[in-house]
Amino acid sequence: MADFALNDDQLQIQSWVHGFAEDVIRPAAHEWDEREEFPYPVVQEAAKIGLYGWEFLMNSFGDQTGLTLPVAIEEIFWGDAGIGMAIMGSALAAAGLSGNGTPEQVMEWVPQCYGDANKIQLGAFCVSEPDAGSDVSSLRTRAVYDQATDEWVINGTKAWITNGGIADIHVVVAAVEPDLKGRGQASFVIPPATKGLSQGQKYKKHGIRASHTAEVVLDDVRVPGRCLLGGKEKLDAKLARARERGHSGEKQPAMATFEATRPSVGAQALGIARAAYEYSLQYAKERHAFGRPIIMNQAIAFKLANMAVEIDASRLLIWRAAWLARNGGFKNGEGSMSKYKASETAVRVTEDAIQILGGYGYTREYPVERWHRDAKIHTIFEGTSEIQQLVIARAISGLRIE
Ligand SMILES: Cc1cc2nc3c(=O)[nH]c(=O)nc-3n(C[C@H](O)[C@H](O)[C@H](O)COP(=O)(O)OP(=O)(O)OC[C@H]3O[C@@H](n4cnc5c(N)ncnc54)[C@H](O)[C@@H]3O)c2cc1C
Repeated sequence: MADFALNDDQLQIQSWVHGFAEDVIRPAAHEWDEREEFPYPVVQEAAKIGLYGWEFLMNSFGDQTGLTLPVAIEEIFWGDAGIGMAIMGSALAAAGLSGNGTPEQVMEWVPQCYGDANKIQLGAFCVSEPDAGSDVSSLRTRAVYDQATDEWVINGTKAWITNGGIADIHVVVAAVEPDLKGRGQASFVIPPATKGLSQGQKYKKHGIRASHTAEVVLDDVRVPGRCLLGGKEKLDAKLARARERGHSGEKQPAMATFEATRPSVGAQALGIARAAYEYSLQYAKERHAFGRPIIMNQAIAFKLANMAVEIDASRLLIWRAAWLARNGGFKNGEGSMSKYKASETAVRVTEDAIQILGGYGYTREYPVERWHRDAKIHTIFEGTSEIQQLVIARAISGLRIE
């Protein structure tokens, strides 16, 4: 039975992360948004206190209630979403590794996605391509096995990759048997400084500008057989089953990762929404027009009431999904529900926050316009809102809705 009362450990983590978000992340947010660069010094500070590190992530993964991670993420993103993504981006690679690798592979590569406080390292999870975003079954990046050397040769271009090209560890999803679409794909680790992997264009973005997003070009990249996540025997068996059945029902590696990380992405959006709500509530009490605080007008007060409702509803969906992910699994697309609801809420709440601040809200002197820009990514990455609706519709109907 789910119990959403946070335990002492979780309450302590919540207050510890909030302190870091308030004292270190938020004061740095404007500068790194303007610089549009990866905020190495801030991530280094997070590593020093153990917030950026594989141990923290693995401890959170190990929490049976599932709530520790979304609680921590909400606080980080309450501080700032661009810096938040810089801190959380490596977790995508770690989740890809944990979801598809053997225990030995996880222990070897996940720590290398983080490094240590003296020298931080980064991980990147590379799925999307210029012509395959929502439709991850159509990946063109190809991995071919070279039996003579026991190596995989990988060629292709990945698009929109968080930490792409600057990461130490790239986890790449590629087609091994393109005819089998999603069921013919596998995940590979590309170790640091592997020849043939380079950064393509770095994108100039609307929001989360402190997070680095770039193309990753794979040009005859050769990795040893042990870099195939899960191992060759498991892949061969999976491909044989898929060939035999035509439709194996097995999850694609990329989709399995995204499904598991959805409540966390919802928690990111939730952190932004809460930041905007708290800020605009305070502002509405202090700002006077027509001789009274603007909150005394129902038009403003009801906006704030709706924000509070939507934020709490989002958190409940996220916590339910996080709990289910550890205890019994999703049945009706609960992971997607949480990400969908929180993302749309964040966009709406941050837009209303701009409205409450009026002209001030529209300027870069105040943080709400940044929160609005940052919120928008959450309806796009890790499955757009439309794709979340598709997952939910299929889950509740049992039909292959297109
Ligand atoms: C800042 C940023 C960071 C990112 N980080 C990563 C990363 O680290 N790793 C990674 O692999 N990818 C990453 N992505 C890629 C992201 O996951 C994709 O952009 C996303 O999946 C959407 O794919 P697309 O851009 O190709 O859009 P498309 O798939 O072309 O979609 C365009 C529009 O069509 C709609 N649509 C598509 N198919 C359907 C359908 N069947 N039914 C209804 N509507 C549909 C979509 O909802 C959307 O509105 C990142 C993207 C951004 C912008």
